[in-house]
Amino acid sequence: MDALPDELKYSLNKLKEIDFELAYLALLTCEGLKPLSRWEKPLDEEQVSLLKQMGLNVKRITRTVKTGRQVFETIFSKLPVYICLYEDRFQNTAVDKSAATVRFEGFLFGYPPCCIENYVQHPYAPNELSADSQKILFHWACKDCEMTPGLLEQYRHVHQTLFAV
Ligand SMILES: [Zn+2]
Repeated sequence: MDALPDELKYSLNKLKEIDFELAYLALLTCEGLKPLSRWEKPLDEEQVSLLKQMGLNVKRITRTVKTGRQVFETIFSKLPVYICLYEDRFQNTAVDKSAATVRFEGFLFGYPPCCIENYVQHPYAPNELSADSQKILFHWACKDCEMTPGLLEQYRHVHQTLFAV
């Protein structure tokens, strides 16, 4: 990753003040490691504009949970097409954890297909990753995964960059 431009650093620092994980997701998405990210905690207009200043497309999605209560998700992506895919599928729908949803979300979130499939079949099956490594990923790695080590290296780089911003 090249040195980050000052405007990007400004946004990242502001996002870090809200929540480190939000800044981390934003930078992973900017760097293209994640086609799309989802934030499930509330964000106000000013916070949304920080994401937009980073060159991200941002959209608020309304979902419902079992009790019928509405919940709001904020999704962001460098490319509008991923926002469209998510919106078409999930806007105004009930939150669900079906295999089809896990596969679709995994695709949008940039997870390795092998890990997605493994998770669908055996959620949280033991893998050989250290807790520290697993913690900076958003997918649960499959055992002896061939894709995760390379991804992990990139994720770690983004994570460390963010600490230094
Ligand atoms: Zn895998």
